[in-house]
Amino acid sequence: MKRKDILYSGKAKSVYTTDDADRLILEFRDDTSAFDGEKVEQLARKGRVNNYFNAFIMQKLAAAGIENHFIERISDNESVVRRLEMLPVECVVRNLAAGSLCRRLGIEEGRELKPPVFEFFLKNDALHDPMINESHIRTFGWATDEEVAQMQSLTLAVNTVLRDLFAAGNMLLVDYKLEFGRYQGRLLLGDEFSPDGCRLWDAQTREKLDKDRFRQGLGGVIEAYEEVAHRLGIPLD
Ligand code: ADP
Ligand code: UDP
Repeated sequence: MKRKDILYSGKAKSVYTTDDADRLILEFRDDTSAFDGEKVEQLARKGRVNNYFNAFIMQKLAAAGIENHFIERISDNESVVRRLEMLPVECVVRNLAAGSLCRRLGIEEGRELKPPVFEFFLKNDALHDPMINESHIRTFGWATDEEVAQMQSLTLAVNTVLRDLFAAGNMLLVDYKLEFGRYQGRLLLGDEFSPDGCRLWDAQTREKLDKDRFRQGLGGVIEAYEEVAHRLGIPLD
């Protein structure tokens, strides 16, 4: 399958149409951004690691019954996916307190969250992705009530699968962000799952192995992503 026209170029990926109207090619670039695009750098190998990582996770999720857009990885930096009508919301689940939850509520980083916290954010960089709730989604028509319920149950179902997967690699899945879209009358998981959109800590030392290394200027960003891939047994060549 070959790229046709560029449909969209985001902060980390470019999206291309193909000869098949139902399929897109996602290109994972080396661009790395934080703080709604304020901090941007090129990190060698990032696009490739995230493409391999995402392919592995999406296949694991599909095998666990969580339908998603992933079809196949076709090169180091590209994968074919189903073309979704994306909903403009981000779904976040948190198992341990970190990031904006700590800043917003004054909770100490690392506190265990039982049951896990679920949050919706509006996907809008200009507004800095504000937190929203079901009432906003209903009033502004960003998703139907049924889709809201599905996003909540699917995002939590992902937690059950991935917490165990990362635990087997001696890692804690601290939090993560998912995006969903409509496809032939169904709601499918879209976008990506990679260390760019989740927090992963070493289970013993709590060393950060995700994009917080970039956000906080800790260095060794891609080395950490590769370490996570290695612990999960994802072959990177
Ligand atoms: P951003 O838009 O946040 O800068 P990216 O650089 O990752 O993010 O861009 C990828 C874009 O592609 C996102 O806007 C995402 O919602 C969209 N997208 C992801 N998967 C699909 C899909 N299967 N169909 C259509 N759009 C998708
Ligand atoms: N996240 C993301 N994209 C966003 C916002 C958040 O992938 O636009 C991820 C982030 O990597 C983390 C989780 O969602 O794993 C929760 O992020 P948080 O709300 O703590 O925001 P942050 O501190 O990253 O601004």
